[in-house]
Amino acid sequence: MPVWTPFGGGRKVAHSWAGSSRSEAESGCCHETSLMKFSDIGTRVASKDFLSYQLVAELSHRGRMRAFFLWGLLLISLHPSPISAQWWQESQAIMGTQVLVELWHPDEAQGRAAVGAVMDEMRRIDREMSPFKASSLLSYMNREAARSPVEITPELFELMWKSVRISELTGGAFDVTFASAGRKYDYRKHVKPDHEALAEAMPAIDYHHLQFDRQHTRIRYLHRGVYVDLGGIAKGHAVDRAIGILQKRGITQAMVGAGGDTRIIGDRRGEPWVVGVRDPRKEGENVAVLPLTDVAVSTSGDYERYFELDGVRYHHIIDPKTGDSAREVRSVTVLGDEATTTDALSTSVFVLGVEKGLALVNRLPGIDAIIIDGEGRMHFSDELLRMAKHDPS
Ligand code: AMP
Ligand code: MG
Repeated sequence: MPVWTPFGGGRKVAHSWAGSSRSEAESGCCHETSLMKFSDIGTRVASKDFLSYQLVAELSHRGRMRAFFLWGLLLISLHPSPISAQWWQESQAIMGTQVLVELWHPDEAQGRAAVGAVMDEMRRIDREMSPFKASSLLSYMNREAARSPVEITPELFELMWKSVRISELTGGAFDVTFASAGRKYDYRKHVKPDHEALAEAMPAIDYHHLQFDRQHTRIRYLHRGVYVDLGGIAKGHAVDRAIGILQKRGITQAMVGAGGDTRIIGDRRGEPWVVGVRDPRKEGENVAVLPLTDVAVSTSGDYERYFELDGVRYHHIIDPKTGDSAREVRSVTVLGDEATTTDALSTSVFVLGVEKGLALVNRLPGIDAIIIDGEGRMHFSDELLRMAKHDPS
C-alpha cells in the first residue's frame, strides 16, 4: 500500500474584501440579498467592485463602468480570433465541456500557435483520461487492473496519486472510485440504479482498493467492482497543463477554462479578469462576480448534469458513503493556486457540505471557498470573511 504524504498548502494572498455587515463577517454566515463590495490590497481579489446576490449589476472599477465578463457570452469559434490587436481567444467543445482560452501575445502567429497548443493538450488529456472512450488509458486500467497491475503513464499515475491524497485529506469525500456506483447513473436518460444495483456496487467504492507501485508506475485494483472516473480532477489538471504550456511560451497574461475550472495568469492589461459564480437555480444569472488575477477557481454545482424524479434532484456529484447525489449544498466555488487542487476540492467540499467543507478549507493555506447552501444562502471561508472585516472602505 502506498505511504500517503501530507497535503502541502500554498501561499496566502494578502487581500481585503468588504462584506455587507460586521455581524455577517463575524458569524461566518450568510448573504442572501445583500450588496457586497470588494476592495483590493493584494492580488487575488483585485478590484473595487460591487456585487449582489441573485442580481449582479455593472461593475465599477476605478470610477469607470464596464460590463462584467460572462463565459457564456464568449463567441464560439473554431479558430483563434483576435478580440483586440493582441488578444487571442478560442472556445472548443472538448472533454464533454467547453474549453476556453484567452491570451495576450503581441505576435499573431505565436498567439494563434499558443491557443492551438492548449487545445491540442486538452484533446490529448481527453484521449488518455476519458472514461467514456474505450481506447483511453483510463478505460484500459478500468478493464484490466482488477486482474493484474497495469502500467500507466507517469502523468496518470501522479494524478491518481494526487486523487488519493485528496481522499485522505477529505476523509473520503473525494474518491475517484465513486464511479463504481456512479457509473450506474445516466443523467441524460434520467436513469438511476435501483436499490439492489446500488447495494451491489457500494463495496467497491473505497480508494483503499487502489494499490500503487511507484517504481513501475503501475496500479492495481484490490476489488473486482472498482471503476475509476477522474471527472472531479482531470479538467483542473488539464487547465494546469495548459497554463504550463503558455508559461513556457513566455505568455504572462492568459485565462484557460474547462467547464467549471479556470486558471488565470497575470491581469488583463492592467485590469483584473472577472469570473462569475452562477446562480445555481437561474441559468444565465450570477450571484457573484470575482475580479481575479493569478489564481485558479473551480465551481462544482448540482445544476451541471442532473435530472429530477419524484421531486428529488439526481446529479453528478456523488457522496461515496451513500452512492447517492450529495444534496446539502447547491454549489461550491474554490479559489487556490492550482486548478488540479481547486477542481478536486470544489467536488470534495460539495460532498462535505457547509460545516465540514468550510472547516476543511479554513485549515488549508492558500485555499478560499464560497458555498451556496440548499436554501440559496452564501457562506464564505474565514480568509474571505477576514477581508470583509478589515476592508477600510
Ligand atoms: P466537478 O464538476 O468538478 O465537481 O466534477 C464533477 C465530476 O466529479 C462528476 O461528473 C464525476 O465525474 C466526479 N465525481 C462525482 N462525485 C465524486 C466524488 N465523490 N469524488 C470524486 N469525483 C467525483
Ligand atoms: Mg471539481
